[in-house]
Amino acid sequence: MFDRRPALIARCAGPADVIAAVNFARENRLQVAVRGGAHSFPGHSICDGGFVVDLSLMKGIRVDPSARTARAQAGAKWIDFDHETQAFGLATTGGTASDTGIAGLTLGGGLGWLSSKYGLTVDNLISADVVLADGRFLTANSTQNQDLFWGLRGGGGNFGVVTSFEYQLHAVGPTILGGMVLYPLAKAKEVLRFYREFTQKGAPDELTAYAGFLNPPGGDTVAALICCYCGPLDKGEEVVRALRSFGSPLQDLLGSMPYTAQQCLTDAALPAGSHYYTKGGFLPDLTDQTVDVFAEYVATKPSALSAVLIQTVCGAASRVDPQATAFANREFPYAPVIVSQWLDPAESEVNVRWARDFWKALQPFSGGAVYVNDLSHDDEDRIRSGYGASYGRLASLKKKYDPDNFFRLNPNITPTQ
Ligand SMILES: Cc1cc2nc3c(=O)[nH]c(=O)nc-3n(C[C@H](O)[C@H](O)[C@H](O)COP(=O)(O)OP(=O)(O)OC[C@H]3O[C@@H](n4cnc5c(N)ncnc54)[C@H](O)[C@@H]3O)c2cc1C
Repeated sequence: MFDRRPALIARCAGPADVIAAVNFARENRLQVAVRGGAHSFPGHSICDGGFVVDLSLMKGIRVDPSARTARAQAGAKWIDFDHETQAFGLATTGGTASDTGIAGLTLGGGLGWLSSKYGLTVDNLISADVVLADGRFLTANSTQNQDLFWGLRGGGGNFGVVTSFEYQLHAVGPTILGGMVLYPLAKAKEVLRFYREFTQKGAPDELTAYAGFLNPPGGDTVAALICCYCGPLDKGEEVVRALRSFGSPLQDLLGSMPYTAQQCLTDAALPAGSHYYTKGGFLPDLTDQTVDVFAEYVATKPSALSAVLIQTVCGAASRVDPQATAFANREFPYAPVIVSQWLDPAESEVNVRWARDFWKALQPFSGGAVYVNDLSHDDEDRIRSGYGASYGRLASLKKKYDPDNFFRLNPNITPTQ
């Protein structure tokens, strides 16, 4: 989707290279793109004619099993992180596609299969090492540079290059109860209404449940109820019974599985190399009118590959004080993301238009807020609502830590004047 040619790519091996790269780019007035896992929907981690600070070689991860913490370099992806932490039966909330970088996902918030039990990824961040625009190296945590630490937890990579993250881990798996139940697309409305009731009835925190419209490889688009239960398996069977006994599923793929398999569940549907365009936003409810919009647009998508995932901010993630971190938009339980996917560049216009029209139809029912990590390249006017009530404080921090807006390829915050 973003076919760009930077002038230089610094393949950093550690913080010393990052400091050198930032100083070089600043002194030579080069535009900087910071690349973690390269999953940015707006293509922010690559630029034309500028300088890419590429962290993808920095994948070192150290787990402390007794303290239940992990320190990970910023080029790691969730597949790397889960591999190391699950060796000790530990995990923290990460993304639902294993190829996603820990860096960009953490800096924007982090929604994932453990969020109802353990909060968002930012809620599990203990400390971060950061290289600022002036080349200074700082550690930000609850005792050092606390203001920066607050801003890093949801501020979308605006303040500097994070070279490593330290996370709180939790006992998870290695076997969890997860997977999905699939229904014919014709049952889309019934499935979404059931999902609404199920999520509003108050499922235990151990369960994080999404609804979606996915394309099994080679098959027709299906409605899906997807979940992860991270508590005791026998209790989990009771909790998910309602999910598997609703209607007449095409396939019941719920069951015990390794947590690492749950973390790869959507990988096949989102391969690298396709063209992607997304629209996302928070919804306060899944009203019948909203359900009708989902059913209408999913049935008319121009590309069979396109998908929708209704993520949630429930349980522990919704109970964190919205001012405790820069991730303020916690009052909306549903965070749908429309993922338009196609292969032929000649089909870009029709597929982008589908996602835009879909979102436009949902917008009247939205809470006006959006998850910063789900913003697209044409969502400039929605950035403020991505930060919600945190925007003013973030703009002051931007002035303090990056007054010249050196780091601007991100959901950009304007430094206060
Ligand atoms: C297939 C797919 C699945 C996804 N699933 C989820 C999900 O389940 N949950 C969820 O919360 N989000 C999800 N996302 C959204 C995801 O969180 C964002 O796309 C995120 O920005 C990706 O981070 P990255 O490091 O891979 O991307 P990159 O493209 O490398 O970076 C994204 C942004 O972060 C900045 N950045 C990257 N590394 C650093 C760093 N070390 N220091 C400072 N800034 C940095 C970049 O400059 C860029 O602005 C998904 C995205 C995709 C494409």
